[in-house]
Amino acid sequence: MSIGIREAREALKLYFGYDQFRPMQEQIISDILQGKDVLVLMPTGGGKSVCYQVPAVVMPGLCVVVSPLIALMKDQVEALLVNGIPAAYLNSSQSAEEQFEIENKCLSGAMKLLYVSPEKLLSGGFFSFLKRLNISLFAVDEAHCISAWGHDFRPEYTQLRALKQQFPTIPVVALTATADRLTQKDIQDQLQLRQPEVFLSSFDRPNINLTVLPGQNRLKKITDFLERHHRQPGIIYCLSRKATEDLAAKLKQNGYSTTYYHAGMSSQLRAKAQEAFLRDDVQIVCATIAFGMGIDKSNVRWVIHYNLPKNIESYYQEIGRAGRDGAKSEALLFYSFGDVINLRTMLSDNDKAQAAELQLVKLERMQQFAEATFCRRRILLQYFGETMQKDCGNCDICRNPPTSFDGTLIVQKALSAIARTQEQVNMGLLVDVLRGSRNSQVLSSGYDRIKTYGAGKEIGSLDWHRYLHQMLNAGLVELAYDQNYTLKLTDQSRQVLFEGRRVNLVKFEEVKQAEEPRLREKPKREIIRDALFDKLRALRKKLADELNVPPYVVFTDSTLQEMSTEKPSNRIAMLAISGVGAQKFERYGHDFINEIIAFVTEEQAKGSTIKGATHLVTWEAYQRGYSPEEIAQQRKLNPITVYSHLATLLEQGYDVPVKDFVTKREYNAIVEAIETLGPDAKLKDLYEHLGEQHEYFKIRLSLAMYKKQYAW
Ligand code: ADP
Ligand code: ZN
Repeated sequence: MSIGIREAREALKLYFGYDQFRPMQEQIISDILQGKDVLVLMPTGGGKSVCYQVPAVVMPGLCVVVSPLIALMKDQVEALLVNGIPAAYLNSSQSAEEQFEIENKCLSGAMKLLYVSPEKLLSGGFFSFLKRLNISLFAVDEAHCISAWGHDFRPEYTQLRALKQQFPTIPVVALTATADRLTQKDIQDQLQLRQPEVFLSSFDRPNINLTVLPGQNRLKKITDFLERHHRQPGIIYCLSRKATEDLAAKLKQNGYSTTYYHAGMSSQLRAKAQEAFLRDDVQIVCATIAFGMGIDKSNVRWVIHYNLPKNIESYYQEIGRAGRDGAKSEALLFYSFGDVINLRTMLSDNDKAQAAELQLVKLERMQQFAEATFCRRRILLQYFGETMQKDCGNCDICRNPPTSFDGTLIVQKALSAIARTQEQVNMGLLVDVLRGSRNSQVLSSGYDRIKTYGAGKEIGSLDWHRYLHQMLNAGLVELAYDQNYTLKLTDQSRQVLFEGRRVNLVKFEEVKQAEEPRLREKPKREIIRDALFDKLRALRKKLADELNVPPYVVFTDSTLQEMSTEKPSNRIAMLAISGVGAQKFERYGHDFINEIIAFVTEEQAKGSTIKGATHLVTWEAYQRGYSPEEIAQQRKLNPITVYSHLATLLEQGYDVPVKDFVTKREYNAIVEAIETLGPDAKLKDLYEHLGEQHEYFKIRLSLAMYKKQYAW
C-alpha cells in the first residue's frame, strides 16, 4: 500500500485545517489505509468523521458512507464541499433526476464521498450500480443501530451484512458513539468484519463543565446563567410539552431569543424551530427529549436540564449535544426532590413491573449523581465502566468542594422526629415539623405537640432537604415509595439514635462560583477578544446565510475563538489557525482577515493597544488612499517606520505595490547588493555597499520583495 499516514496528515491540514490527529484517529486511519476493517467507538464530538473522511480523500476511488440520519446528510456534504472535498448524498428525499446526476458523477470518478441511507443502499439495483464504481471504503455511521441490544435499533441495518458478502475485499469502518459490549459484538458479527481492530476511546467530554443547582427559583437562575452566556446557543430540556412552551414564553418576555420544540407540534413547526436553532437565528430552544436526535450543531455552548432526566444514559446523551466542537461548554442540571417523585410515579405507572424496577434503579443512580459529594465526572464515567484516576477539576464539586462536619445532632433530630410522628410523614412535612411551621397539616395532625417540633428551626428548609437526601443516600433513613413517600427508620437509624453512632454530613456553600464570572471584572484583553468574536460570529452568520448552510459549517466556534485571540491578519497567519484549510481560506479567508483588520484599526483609533497590529493600521490607511508620508504625519510616526510597516505587510503576503516606490533600476541595483552581501545582510551594510545612493525605505521594501521571491 503506497498511501501512508503522511499523506493523511497532509490532507488533514489541507482540507480540514488541523495540524494534528487526535489520539486514536491516526491509528484508525493507518489501519484503514492498510485495508483493515475497523470498529470505532468514540463519544459525540470525538472526531469520528475525520476517521473515514481523510482516508476517503487520500485513497483512490470513492468512500460510501451509510448513515441513517437523512436530515444530517445535507449538512455533512455541505461541510465537505466547503472544505473542497467532492461529496454528495443519495436518499429518498431527492428526485429521480437529481439521483441520476449524482450517480453519473460517481461513475465519472469525480466523487470522493457518497452518503447513502440504508434504504437506498439496499434498494433494487443499487449494488450493481456500486459494482461499477471504484469503491475504496465503506463507512457505517451510527453502527449501533444494527443491534437489537442498542437503543436505536433499525431493522434495515441488519441487512448491511450484504456489504461484506458483495464486496469482500473492500474495508469497512463501523462508527458509533454508544455501544456496550453486547452491541459491539453484534456490530462485528452482523457486518461480518474481518478480524477488526476495535478502538474504544474514553467517553469523557472534558470540555463540558458539569454543575447541579437546587431546583428552587429556576427561572431566576436561568436568566442569571444566560447573562453570563451572552448570545451563546443552548438547549433547555423540560419534562413536559407544556413546560417547554411556558418557559419559552417567559424567556421571551425577558428578552431572550427563544423557541420551543416537542413531539406534539406539527412536523413543519418542528422543522422550523430546529432550522432556526441550527442557523443561529434563535439562541435558545426549550425542548422535550424529542429534540436533539440527529442534530449536528457543533456550537451548542450549553445544555440545561430544567428537570431531572430519568437516567444517566439520557443525561449523558443530552449534555453531549453541547460542545461538539471541543470548545468550552456547560451542562447545568436543576435538581429537586419533587422531580424524583414525579418520575417515580411516571415510571411505575407506565411500565411493566419488571421493566419499571430496572428504570427505578436507574433513576436512583441519576439521583445519586445529582446529590454527589465528590467529583461528578468520576461518577458519570464510572457508570459507563470507565475509571478516572483524578478528580476532573471541571465540575461544581471539584471547583467548590463541600466540607464535611459532625452532623450527628442534626441527624438525631430528624430521626427522632420521624419516630415521634410514627413514621407517617413525608419529607416535606417532616421539614415543616422540624422547622416549627404552623401549617394546617402540622396542626391538624397534632405534630406541634411532639417534642422535636421546631427543634431544627435554625436550619433552612433547603438545607434540611439536602441533609435528608444525604441520610437517604447513606441508608440512615428509607423512603417508602409505596406509602406516600413517608420516611421510615432503618437499623442504621437506630444505631444513631440509641447506640451513639456518629455521622458526618456534607455542607454545601451556596454555589458562589456561579456568580463569580459576573463579579469579576473582565480584563481589557478579554473584552477586546470577545468583541472581536462577536464580529466574526456575525460575519460567519452572514456568509452561512448566503450559502444556505448552518454557521458552524463555515467555521466552528473554536476556530473563531482562536481567530479572536490570535487576530491573524494575513494568509500565513490565517492558515495557521486550527480549522482553516486551504479551501476554506480561499473562500472565506480574506473576509475574515478584513474583518479582523477593520476591528483592530477601529480599536486602535479608540486608543486601545493591540499588540503586533500597528502595521495593520498603516495598511488600512494606505488602502484608503493615504500616502506613507501622510500616514506618518497622521500617526505621528517617522516615515521610515511607515515604510517598514509596508515591508512587513509585503512579507506577510499583502499586496503592497513596491513599484510605486522603487524603480526597476533601483530594484536591480539593490538586488545585486543583496546577492553580494547575502539575504541576511543588515540594512545599514546594504546602504553603505550601495554607496549611500538609495534611501533606506527603498532598500527595506526591495529586501522584502526579494525575500518573497516575487518577480518584478
Ligand atoms: P463525531 O462525529 O465523533 O461526533 P466530529 O467528527 O463531528 O465528531 O468532530 C467533532 C469536532 O472535532 C468537529 O468540529 C471536527 O472538525 C473536530 N475535529 C475532528 N478531528 C480533529 C482534529 N484532529 N483536530 C482538531 N479538530 C478536530
Ligand atoms: Zn469533577
